Amino acid sequence: MSKRDYYEVLGVSKTASKDEIKKAYRKLSKKYHPDINKAEDAADKFKEIKEAYEVLSDDQKRAQYDQFGHTDPNQGFGGGGFSGGGFGGFEDIFSTFFGGGGGRRRDPNAPRQGADLQYTMSISFEDAVFGKETTIEIPREEECDTCHGTGAKPGTKAETCSYCNGSGEINIEQNTPFGRIVNRTTCKHCHGTGKIIPNKCSTCGGTGKVKKRKKISIKVPAGIDDGQQLRVSGQGEPGINGGPAGDLFVVFHVKTHEFFERDGDDIYCEVPLTFVQAALGDEIEVPTLHGKVSLKIPAGTQTGTRFRLRGKGVPNVRGYGQGDQHVIVKLVTPKKLTDKQKQLLREYAELSGEAYDEQEDGFFAKMKRAFKGE
Ligand SMILES: [Zn+2]
Ligand SMILES: [Zn+2]
Repeated sequence: MSKRDYYEVLGVSKTASKDEIKKAYRKLSKKYHPDINKAEDAADKFKEIKEAYEVLSDDQKRAQYDQFGHTDPNQGFGGGGFSGGGFGGFEDIFSTFFGGGGGRRRDPNAPRQGADLQYTMSISFEDAVFGKETTIEIPREEECDTCHGTGAKPGTKAETCSYCNGSGEINIEQNTPFGRIVNRTTCKHCHGTGKIIPNKCSTCGGTGKVKKRKKISIKVPAGIDDGQQLRVSGQGEPGINGGPAGDLFVVFHVKTHEFFERDGDDIYCEVPLTFVQAALGDEIEVPTLHGKVSLKIPAGTQTGTRFRLRGKGVPNVRGYGQGDQHVIVKLVTPKKLTDKQKQLLREYAELSGEAYDEQEDGFFAKMKRAFKGE
């Protein structure tokens, strides 16, 4: 996990004075002290604040931090030199600056975790809702069957590199006016592996690995949404030197549906309604992901009215219940009318015209007033 910037942690600027840093620290440490603050993450926050203050309140540590950032003992500029309490001399400083710090040494034979893999999987709208078991095929590096991962031709063996004695790194020592500099570099003869293979395996060319298409069964969880991912533990690239395999991350791309739209666990769909149905009320059939459902449309329903069908949405992917379906009705104006229908509508309009006039606060009454300038 990446660490937060120390200045950010204390909420001060990069040019903050010692006093400002001290004040910020006092304020924050009071706020997050685990004896006072009972929040779950208070203890971690307090630790983070303390660590930031320890570095930023010390001129030397602050200067180092400004230049190199966080000192991670596992990589880069060896952290041992800083956090171990001061410098032992010029040699230490140089070896630290040049990446030769205690933490950097990496045993090429140590077990390491394999790389993680990512796979994008396209699934239908319905499969995302209900889940599905399926098989995917991913190209992945596997141990070479011919040499069983050693990279050496069967019957032969890899030898320890004589240039670096198997460490994979070579120390180059130099005397300078500041003292002796020890610079460590990757061994060119074995490329950091610590091993030389005199007779390479012809199947894998000495790498010990081959690309294979691997079939993996995947259980698509019900309720998964577009862009969400599933971690399939241990199905990434194989580990190195007997280390654990990496993980496989399956990212889902959910196809759109011609009827339904999804927002989280809820489903939305539009249903057409005739003027007569909306005015007089009706009972209609509505498609849902769980089959057809009948829906009562009350008389006088307006276009855009939304009806909720409880529990007819998507099951929550983490098991927290089930979403709803929202039905939005859209009034459809008829485009083709027979003469008889037109006649009836005209009669209807005549009848309802009077009704509109009677409504003092209605839209038509207001409009009439607006044109008269009332
Ligand atoms: Zn070597
Ligand atoms: Zn091989």
